[in-house]
Amino acid sequence: MLRMETIQYNLPQNRIPLAWYNIVADLPKPMAPPLHPGTLKPLGPDDLAPLFPMSLIMQEVSTEREIEIPGEVRQVYAQWRPSPLFRARRLEQALDTPAHIYYKNEGVSPAGSHKPNTAVPQAFYNKQAGTKRLSTETGAGQWGSALAMACAFFGMECKVYMVRVSYDQKPYRRALMEVFGASVTASPSSETQTGRAILAAHPDSNGSLGIAISEAVEIAASDPHTKYALGSVLNHVMLHQTVIGLEAIEQMALAGDEPDVILACAGGGSNFAGLTMPYVGRNLKGQSHARIVAVEPAACPSLTKGQFTYDFGDTGHLTPLVKMHTLGSTFMPPGIHAGGLRYHGMAPLVSHVKDLGLIEATAVHQLDAFAAGIQFARAEGIVPAPESNHAIAGAIYEALEAKREGKPRTILFNLSGHGNFDMQSYIDFQAGKLQNYEYPAEEIAMALAGLPTVL
Ligand SMILES: *Cc1c(COP(=O)(O)O)cnc(C)c1O
Repeated sequence: MLRMETIQYNLPQNRIPLAWYNIVADLPKPMAPPLHPGTLKPLGPDDLAPLFPMSLIMQEVSTEREIEIPGEVRQVYAQWRPSPLFRARRLEQALDTPAHIYYKNEGVSPAGSHKPNTAVPQAFYNKQAGTKRLSTETGAGQWGSALAMACAFFGMECKVYMVRVSYDQKPYRRALMEVFGASVTASPSSETQTGRAILAAHPDSNGSLGIAISEAVEIAASDPHTKYALGSVLNHVMLHQTVIGLEAIEQMALAGDEPDVILACAGGGSNFAGLTMPYVGRNLKGQSHARIVAVEPAACPSLTKGQFTYDFGDTGHLTPLVKMHTLGSTFMPPGIHAGGLRYHGMAPLVSHVKDLGLIEATAVHQLDAFAAGIQFARAEGIVPAPESNHAIAGAIYEALEAKREGKPRTILFNLSGHGNFDMQSYIDFQAGKLQNYEYPAEEIAMALAGLPTVL
């Protein structure tokens, strides 16, 4: 008999976590400190004060295990949290696998991804500190729309530098940010020194997250009323996203199942960290033994092919140096459609747990990711974001391995967002117009040759 039922494991609103989980408290080895780009000395909280409010800086350096979620933030979360956990019965059926496949659906947020989980607290803490305007970068437009929405909720202005290739590919994301009241500029732009320098050298530049970050940091650093907000990479962003994993642990208990393998796509690492760090914490305490896998694009493979070393977070070299898996801050990733995964580095926290052997990483090509996304859409009725397709490809691979072995396997993955604004990429895929990009070995070697020297 065909099993068509949808199984959803819902938690009531009062089960939204009361605190975020900070894995830094449980790490067997501390992370390397961020360094001042000028002195190469470890950074102090005051060095970050021009860019962030002190409450977020304290979270950035915190070693407390639990950090309370403010009531105002939980009230906004309640619009879409706890997000649903589904058992993907029809996908299991389509794959004819003995595996159990579960996914956490972060696409149910109003902006369509996990990004509001951190946009809302970042806007809240900035509002509390008297910030008038937030500046930021966006790749695919997911982060920009999440922050634009959060700024609208808390009555602040929002200035977004959107990577040129996405600005052109995704006009509806741009429109959404503008509906929420944000001002959106294609990056590189002529508004900043960094942008002007890049345009002078490469007038047709596609842009990159590294360049857009430089532009957003530059205008925040030069205006006392403007602070900067980053949608991934930083410790406080990873922290805010742990609501995903904390909820998932409760929902998997409701389902009466324990994951053997947990997957999420990784660009800067935030949705991955959000789902998996609470599980890494459990693994460290011996309460679970799940394999934890980050899935990244083969065209921009920081975790699988990058070096674990100090590098700048941006192309213009305005940010602190952080120790992370990097392809080099001047690396210009190919124009794949998963814009949210086109970043040269990886969150220092995710890089650190990878270096400690607490997680694994794998890379998939664009065409395989889209094929997986379409198979998922036909089974589950949700069109995934191109970024999320990478996690789905990883989950399907695991399900087919289980089938080959003839053994059950419980798979949990994060559906980081829906793809309703990404239909052009699906049109192009279905028309055979997308291509795989080989590992850009030469460009990466060049970018890595330019790594800063830190003794
Ligand atoms: C931004 C984004 C990503 C990549 O960012 P991470 O910080 O690695 O999570 C993945 N999926 C979606 C839907 C996004 O919007």
